[in-house]
Amino acid sequence: MADIILATLNARYAHCAFGLRYLFANLGDLQPRARLLEFDINQRPLDVAENILGNNPRILGLGLHVWNASQTLILVRLLKQLRPALIVILGGPEISHETDQQEISRLADHIIPGEADLAFAQLCRQLLSLSALPSHTPVHSLALSPTPPPDLATLALPYDFYTDDDIAHRVIYAEASRGCPYECEFCLSALDETVRQFPLDRFLAAMQRLLDRGCRQFKFVDRTFNLDLKTSAAILQFFLDRYRPGLFLHFEMVPDRLPESLRVLIQDFPPISLQFEVGIQTFNEEVAQRIGRRQDNAKAEQNLRWLRAHSGVHLHADLIVGLPGESLDSFATGFDRLVAMEPHEIQVGILKRLRGAPIARHTAQWRMIYDPQPPYEILQNRDLDFAVIQRLRRFARYWDLIANSGRFVETAPLIWKNSSPFREFLAFSDWLSTETGSTHGIALPRLARLLEKYLREKKEFSGSVTHSQASGPRARQVRHSGPDDK
Ligand code: SF4
Repeated sequence: MADIILATLNARYAHCAFGLRYLFANLGDLQPRARLLEFDINQRPLDVAENILGNNPRILGLGLHVWNASQTLILVRLLKQLRPALIVILGGPEISHETDQQEISRLADHIIPGEADLAFAQLCRQLLSLSALPSHTPVHSLALSPTPPPDLATLALPYDFYTDDDIAHRVIYAEASRGCPYECEFCLSALDETVRQFPLDRFLAAMQRLLDRGCRQFKFVDRTFNLDLKTSAAILQFFLDRYRPGLFLHFEMVPDRLPESLRVLIQDFPPISLQFEVGIQTFNEEVAQRIGRRQDNAKAEQNLRWLRAHSGVHLHADLIVGLPGESLDSFATGFDRLVAMEPHEIQVGILKRLRGAPIARHTAQWRMIYDPQPPYEILQNRDLDFAVIQRLRRFARYWDLIANSGRFVETAPLIWKNSSPFREFLAFSDWLSTETGSTHGIALPRLARLLEKYLREKKEFSGSVTHSQASGPRARQVRHSGPDDK
């Protein structure tokens, strides 16, 4: 039993709800009256509702994200039918923008837009002090309007609320800063006004406690880890000094910023103990400028090549399909340029119109049509029709299975040997789609047989294709995971 339940539907079990742990950590004297419950989007809403109501809460705080918006709506509908008096408070990026346009807003009692670390506790205190809790007061009646983001120095840190089970089996998130100074219009971080740092000594003390408890794998969610070079160097040095086999650190980096001070440290880490997620998104400078993305492509290329040649960093690079003005030819050129830099993984993401993201201003001019259902992916635009975007969606999935998986390291490049990786892999993707009629549920041995068949029929290949066991970051379930609404 708990007066306050903090809950969310994670994308999968391995993802810990980082934001909820902040809310829990900052409840102060209300903490003994609260409980944190985590579910995932594959669980039946009926079962989730049963679990929540079994705790007989008076207040339920739910975290809404692009990956759980549909399921959370179903859940809140159920809960409000079963227990109308339950006070439902919503927070998270998905409900922080275009709030009034969302059905779930009409079902909820309160909404806290923006960073709710302190505001949630404040609202709970206010509600619990009322003699009788109001049932379904209109939205915003007691909600806090967007307040300035909290001073990070005043926040209780969430790291001690990772359980031993979390440390053993799940992705452990960390952040040394919040905010981003860049203004890429597809990204919600473009709305941030400043970058704020957590006090480094407190942060590192918390990291030390996690290390002491056996934690070895950390995913940093700082938007641009290498922005404040002094802090990023201090954090890298901290972990380097405490290096133990199995240590694995994931960082999101801006690609055109890798000075000597960081290079020296990076080189000292053993292979595969660092993973950098590097957002390239587009190499087309006109498109980049149109969406407010500032990036020195030549420098980014130089840095990626240096990392591959001189460090053991596992490199994960992102490109986006569907940006306004990016034609198929332009995307192909960028993809081929990136392949030549040999990152270990290339994630081809389909553009999303996240609620609140400034990219919406291009909708009319570039005839951008987005799926109205989360995650609001682009379906068509002026340069890429629906059929082409569908082809690229399959391309992205098959690239993930064949090239990113690390299971066909030797064989995959035979698909595009001496030719354009994009064009050749697109042809393979079209062929594979015709053969299988699916992008999911293809067992690995069958995938290997299909790859061999393609290479024999189309590439005069006479060997046999076997798949290797994936190892490294992918096996650790760290990549593409997390409280990330980009
Ligand atoms: S895409 Fe990256 S660099 Fe651009 S605004 Fe978002 S977090 Fe910042």
